[in-house]
Amino acid sequence: MQLKGKRALITGSTSGIGLGISEALALNGCDIVLNGFGSSLEIESLVRRLTSQYHVHVRHVDADVSGRDACLSLAAEAKRELGGVDILVNNAGIQHVAPVEEFPAEQWDKIIATNLSSSFHLTAAMLPFMRNQDWGRIINVASVHGLVGSRFKAAYVAAKHGLVGLTKVVALECAGSGVTCNAICPGWVLTPLVEVQILKNMKEQAISRETAERELLVEKQPSRQFTTVQQIGALVVFLCSPAAENLTGACLPVDGAWTAQ
Ligand code: NAD
Repeated sequence: MQLKGKRALITGSTSGIGLGISEALALNGCDIVLNGFGSSLEIESLVRRLTSQYHVHVRHVDADVSGRDACLSLAAEAKRELGGVDILVNNAGIQHVAPVEEFPAEQWDKIIATNLSSSFHLTAAMLPFMRNQDWGRIINVASVHGLVGSRFKAAYVAAKHGLVGLTKVVALECAGSGVTCNAICPGWVLTPLVEVQILKNMKEQAISRETAERELLVEKQPSRQFTTVQQIGALVVFLCSPAAENLTGACLPVDGAWTAQ
């Protein structure tokens, strides 16, 4: 319970990595505001499950973070709900795969807005409160694609490189203030976002699930293992711990040596 009394907002936390991070923070005593899409039934049952499992305050705030106004309302609502936000995890993200010359402009705009601009708007909205109390943690879920490129992911790679840049600037501006800002850069993590890519490859290449998973890993991730959402959650908890007080401006790959190549 090393984070008892801390309050966190995690964007895109109804699924995958964001949900894994939320569970890890709640397990350590953090009150949380969830955000992300889902049916009201699914969301209600998720909030109920986390509340009873971890005995912390849990609330979901509906906001499409691809819009600036929605980000500002989300920030205000989370602060009101929790009495302040000590930990901001910018995690919401989407993907679209196509060659540059065929990449739909509206997908480009949506990915930049969701995966990059939302982090800027939420960080700007949360920083005054964090600075004022001399403590804050901003954790951006970037990607190995914030460090290296891959074909057909123009908008995603551009957004994640931008997020890595934003992380460094925020860390520099906050250095010595008690507020740290870091990026986590996962390789393949088995979540619904990656599930879509596995199913697409199975269909297009007429291969089994096992083969599709293996091919995905063999191409890029030398460990040949998916990272788990629990492992990412544990890293977030570490970044919020006293041991990480002077760890800021870092972009931490969790990628089975993908970016070591
Ligand atoms: P996911 O699809 O399982 O979850 C994405 C979450 O974001 C969902 O809760 C969804 O509702 C929410 N979301 C999407 N658009 C939103 C919007 N406009 N407003 C609010 N919420 C929105 O995906 P995931 O794999 O858990 O990915 C989470 C983050 O991790 C993303 O930023 C992704 O780029 C990054 N990432 C994932 C992997 C991977 O292998 N899964 C690897 C590297 C980085």
